[in-house]
Amino acid sequence: MAFLDVRDLRVHFETDDGVVRSVDGLSFSLERGKTLGIVGESGSGKSVTSLGIMGLHKGRSRSRISGQIILDGEDLVAADPDHVRTLRGQKMAMIFQDPLSAMHPYFTIGAQIVEAYRTHNQVSKAVARKRAVEMLDRVGIPQPDKRVDNYPHEFSGGMRQRAMIAMSLVNNPQLLIADEPTTALDVTVQAQILDLIRDLQQEFGSAVIVITHDLGVVAELADDILVMYGGRAIEYGTAVDVFEAPQHPYTWGLLGSMPRLDRELRERLTPIKGTPPSLINLPSGCAFSPRCPYTRDDCTTISPLLPTQGAHRVACHLPTAQRAAIFADSVAPA
Ligand code: SF4
Ligand code: MG
Repeated sequence: MAFLDVRDLRVHFETDDGVVRSVDGLSFSLERGKTLGIVGESGSGKSVTSLGIMGLHKGRSRSRISGQIILDGEDLVAADPDHVRTLRGQKMAMIFQDPLSAMHPYFTIGAQIVEAYRTHNQVSKAVARKRAVEMLDRVGIPQPDKRVDNYPHEFSGGMRQRAMIAMSLVNNPQLLIADEPTTALDVTVQAQILDLIRDLQQEFGSAVIVITHDLGVVAELADDILVMYGGRAIEYGTAVDVFEAPQHPYTWGLLGSMPRLDRELRERLTPIKGTPPSLINLPSGCAFSPRCPYTRDDCTTISPLLPTQGAHRVACHLPTAQRAAIFADSVAPA
């Protein structure tokens, strides 16, 4: 069994307008020391997946969760919420897009790291403070012994993200989830933060999930990639396979919106038009069919399922050979 094994995960929310199926039958696994990139547009279910793993979906409206989230042999879906709370911040931790919203504005950075550390370790404040300074130093905050007494607003965006990473890692979590960790940052700082996450992962050997709408973010970071659409996985494989031989028309579109790609390739991989589907009322058949340029008859009636086996899996009705031909055609030199 893998270190993290997610099986047929469903996270639904009951609303006055109907049931929102944010995550609807998701399965994947992750080993220690590996990084999984979960990619999709907003509303694809990727953030709710991470909230479900962390046991944080419950704070939202009427929610229902089913399936299994087996972390190190223990099913978090079946576990007692108090127990999951103990694991959070200790065995698993999360980095959010916007550190300002995750940090308390009235407490110093140091006080918040000390609190995170002392929640799970019976140590004196002085010992915890020393640990906070060490962690700030480790994530590249200059003069950490002074900056430890700053408030979040006294840090730049990039430094705040570093401080949040320090706070997440203070208890050596074995699973780290980073949800859009660099979206709010400028490109240079983004690259630095991604380097930092990679270095820390190698040092701590944790399993890392990076959630993003931008395939570019996970291009160099992820071992495996899972592409989500309409609350389901539509493509799942190694990063090498997904980048070099993407199989799903939606993934082609995502690649087409990657600014870092070669311009000619990007123009040929047309970005996807239209908007993500409503999670209350998914289109029948393939949820991507209203936006897909390759729709066939069965696409609007039969929902394509992601195979449960195989190194590179895709949920699409197109025959493999045809898919390969379309992709080869789209990337062939003019
Ligand atoms: Fe397009 Fe049909 Fe494949 Fe869906 S199943 S991605 S509509 S070709
Ligand atoms: Mg999100």
